[in-house]
Amino acid sequence: MATNRRALLRTGLTVTAVGAAGLSLPNPASAAPNSPTRVRPEAAPSIAGTDAWGARPASGTIQVLDSRPIKIIVHHTATSNSSDFSQAHAFALSRDIQDYHMDSNGWLDTGQHFTNSRGGWITEGRHRSLEVLNGGTRHVVSAHASGQNSVALGIENEGLYTGVDVPGQLWTSLVALCRYMCDQYRIRPSEIYGHRDFNSTECPGDVLYARLSELRAAVGDAAGQLIPWPLLRLGDTGARVTAAQHLLRARGLTGVPTDGVYGPATEDAVRRFAVANNVPMEHCYASAHADERGLLGAGTWPLLVTSVRADDPGDAGRAVRALLTARGDRLAPTALIDTRGWRNLLT
Ligand SMILES: [Zn+2]
Repeated sequence: MATNRRALLRTGLTVTAVGAAGLSLPNPASAAPNSPTRVRPEAAPSIAGTDAWGARPASGTIQVLDSRPIKIIVHHTATSNSSDFSQAHAFALSRDIQDYHMDSNGWLDTGQHFTNSRGGWITEGRHRSLEVLNGGTRHVVSAHASGQNSVALGIENEGLYTGVDVPGQLWTSLVALCRYMCDQYRIRPSEIYGHRDFNSTECPGDVLYARLSELRAAVGDAAGQLIPWPLLRLGDTGARVTAAQHLLRARGLTGVPTDGVYGPATEDAVRRFAVANNVPMEHCYASAHADERGLLGAGTWPLLVTSVRADDPGDAGRAVRALLTARGDRLAPTALIDTRGWRNLLT
């Protein structure tokens, strides 16, 4: 993975372009510390279950605890650095690992919860791990790190990373999987470790281990749990309102001014948009009888923002530029702003 890409990820604004310049975006970790707000569930990465790759049945009962895991442990399989990036290879690897763990180690099933191939294919390891992860409240007791198996999720990354770096595909899927785990269980990204942090082992290799701080940063930024969407309402003014007005127009709402004033016309457009898109309404008790569909908040922003280039000639591009101008930020015209980038700009 290119160094400049890594540096960009650390800024908190996810930008995919050459030459972003002059960014001075807030560190999301400091933007809203300890915010309990769950802004938006992280999408689950594609994970092939044990049925998909032809796992053998476990030789005993899988133990599932009624408690959440509190950390993630990253491993490498210390198998060869295969150049076969296919899903079929990932499946074969999963079968080999299960055979090894059951037949040689005498375990009841695969030791780790998930396996991540060099091609970026994620498979379920121990049975029930995927179902339980998706549930987000329980933990499958595993066998991947001594002393940690009741509290830690284990990810085996295919390959040996004592002297070479991981393929980009593996890295991308590792970030996505960790992000999903953190989101499901409210695990802080700072609770991502290497196997060597707990046991005397080279695992996950000097090179991958050296990248764990980068992984924590990528997951912390990407999970986005600490970056709230702003709540706009009647009477608000400023660049965020201007951006919202452009985004509403980009979604086909008529009669919306672009004056940066959240007046009745803007409120009406927000209400129409919310109704048309079935934006969930969760009234607080005190406002149970109010119609809050005129508020523009976390239920609506994700429906308004789409990935857009900073030089997009349409209303979405105008929204981005209104935000950038107000902040005094510059961005390469070809920079692509995705949903997380929007959240940074709006906050
Ligand atoms: Zn390990």
